[in-house]
Parts: sequence; structure tokens; C-alpha cells
Amino acid sequence: VGATSPEAGRADPRRVVAELEQLREETGTEMGAQRVAWTHTWAQARAWLRSQLDDLPVSVRVDEAGNMWATLAGASPRALVIGSHLDSVPDGGWLDGCLGVVAGLEVLRCFAQGPPPPLTLRLVDWADEEGARFGRSLFGSTAAAGRLDPDDLREVTDADGVTLAQALAGHGVALDDAPRAAIDPADVLGYLELHIEQGPVLEDAGLALGVVDGVFGVERHRVHFAGRASHAGATPMPLRRDPLVAAARLIVAVREQARDAGGVATVGEIGVHPSIPTAIPGAAALTLDQRHRSEAGLATMLDAAHAAADAIAAQEGVSVQWSVVQRIDPVRFDPGLVGLAEAHVGAVAGDCRRLTSGALHDAAMMARAGVPSVMVFVQSLGGVSHNRIEDSRREHIELGVAALDELARAVVRRGEAAG
Ligand SMILES: [Zn+2]
Repeated sequence: VGATSPEAGRADPRRVVAELEQLREETGTEMGAQRVAWTHTWAQARAWLRSQLDDLPVSVRVDEAGNMWATLAGASPRALVIGSHLDSVPDGGWLDGCLGVVAGLEVLRCFAQGPPPPLTLRLVDWADEEGARFGRSLFGSTAAAGRLDPDDLREVTDADGVTLAQALAGHGVALDDAPRAAIDPADVLGYLELHIEQGPVLEDAGLALGVVDGVFGVERHRVHFAGRASHAGATPMPLRRDPLVAAARLIVAVREQARDAGGVATVGEIGVHPSIPTAIPGAAALTLDQRHRSEAGLATMLDAAHAAADAIAAQEGVSVQWSVVQRIDPVRFDPGLVGLAEAHVGAVAGDCRRLTSGALHDAAMMARAGVPSVMVFVQSLGGVSHNRIEDSRREHIELGVAALDELARAVVRRGEAAG
């Protein structure tokens, strides 16, 4: 099956690439994609999507959280949902999010050409996946999953002091009504999302596509070490209580622990006070971000980090305190759907690999809502994303579209067989 030679009624991957290029042209600058949610350019991208949907026998609706849904009615009201997000970070890449929406549009288009499908097909463009402007990601899918509390968001503002509620209102969305976008998971047979990997794993393995079996959980904590600030020259080594040395030792320790536990751990940010060349600092605080595919693995890593911090603090004569920044439970996608995806993605691409996403996605929200979900990743060149140089090989993008099309057909056939 050549991904670049479409049969009648099959997705045309080259049209998807051409449409992605068109969107890049219309909603990007030389600095990259500018489709930040709740901005004019984002609305422009959506107007483009709507104009494509106008040519199809689908009903289009924007829900109370600003998610755009296109529905192709089938014999059964139970729906297969395909989606992703048109919004981008500022100066973003051309594929992040857009790929899944435009590929889903193509799949919908193909089904629309044939007789009414046995299942209803729905395309969704989630609102504000990136959280680029207000710092809260997955807005629309969180609402759809029934997990959005407007009170958590009432005080949230952008860099210019505009509240989220004001920005939403500018696009016809009332923050207080957003929870009404909650779906009934019983209506949804499955959720599929095609996305670029945004990391280096598939390229390293020499594979075009991968099947995502879940999303890493996150433990993000601030660790504060306090010691005694003193003179760099006058304080002999044995008499020091240096919190920065303790922080440095913890950074090395959590790296080893992550390797042992099969997870990842990052200290991407550290503050030292006072921060001058001639003083031993009195305080050092770092942000530890640990991620793992399983709850047990994540707990093991966090316990080990606590134990290491205590031991190091005792040895260095400093105190240590922890405060929670954010915790996210790992998500495991539906094993049946993951298996089905592996079979079909492998058949289209020749080979594929199962991987767990380190980045958050709308699919994780659907899975949390109880919808059987799976994602397919397309190899990212250099593992780069959220940047204008983000790119993937054309042939890999086309294989991804063909794989999504195959998988959607397989899910529809399976749903039909199950009645
Ligand atoms: Zn994305």
C-alpha cells in the first residue's frame, strides 16, 4: 500500500501536506506559526477549517468551551472522534496540532464521499491546547472531559493583564458556561489523534511512526535548601553549610534515580541567594520535574528524591523543605485500541514502535474522561518542536495520514461488528 498513491475513497496524504502548507502560509510569519488561541490569527485558521467543512455534508458546531466539532452522521449515534488542535505557541511550528486536525478533516472527507458510515464520525479542533497565552494548557479538552472549574481560572491573566474570561468573551465563549461542553463518554466509541512526536525517539530508532500507549505522569516540586551565608575566603571548608552544594548533589542524584526507574527527571531552574562570586549562598531552591509512565514508577522516583534530599541535607548541615508545584497522574491509553493501532500503523509504515508521550495532549483528557483513546506519532526531525524549525519528512507525514485513515476504518469496522 503506497501512502502516496491514494485509491478512491481513501485519504489523500498529499492533499493534507498541501493544506498544512496553505495554513502555514496564511497563519504564520517568517518567525513561525502565530495561531495562539483566542487571537485573530487563530480565528483565521478556524475560518479556514470551517470553509473546508462547508463543502461536506457535516454539521458544524462550536461548543461552550470553544471547541469546534464537525459531525458526519452515521447509522449509529455512537461516534468515533478524531481531533487535535489548530492553536500554536507564538513563533510555533507548522505541524504541532495542525497535522491531526487537517488529517482528521481528510478522513472525514473520505467517509463523506461514501454511503453513510455505520458509526457517526466527528472531527474536533480543541480550543487552547497550548495554554501559550494564559499558562493553562488543554482548556477545551479539559472542559469536554468534565474537569474544568471556572473558579480556578477566574483570576488568570495574560502578560498584558487581559483576563482569560475577557479573551474568551472576545471569541463568543463564556467562562462560566464552559463546563457545559462536557461530553458523555458513553456516546463516544473512541478517540484518535495523529500528532508529531516532538521528541527524538522515533528518529533515533529510524522509524516513521509510533503508537502512543499513554502519557507520562508528572511530579513537579520546589526544593528549598537553607544553610548559612558566609564569606568565600574566611570560611574553612569543614565549617561551611552550603545549600548550593546540597542542591547540586540532589541534581546528580535525581538523574541517577530516573535512569534506574526508567523515567525522566529534570532540574531546569534554580535560584541562589545571595548570588555573588564571593559568598557561600544562604539559600538555594530548585524545581524538580519528574515524569514516569506508571504511578508506581513515579512514586518510586519521588520517594528516592526525598530520601536523597534528606541524606544530603544532613551531610551538608543544611535544612530542606518541599513544596508542590504540580502533580499529574500518568494516563494509559486503551490497550485494545493501542493493539489495533499497532497492527494498522505497522502495516502502513512497515514497522512501528510503542512509546509513551512525555508531553501532554488532549488525548490524555479524553482518556481520563473514560473514552478509549490512542495517538499515533510522526517522527520529528531533530526532535524539535514549539519552534519555527519544527519539521518532519513529507513521506513520514503522508504515512501518518494513511495510518490514521486505516486505523479509523478499522475502528469503524470493529464498532459495526460490535453493534
Ligand atoms: Zn500539540
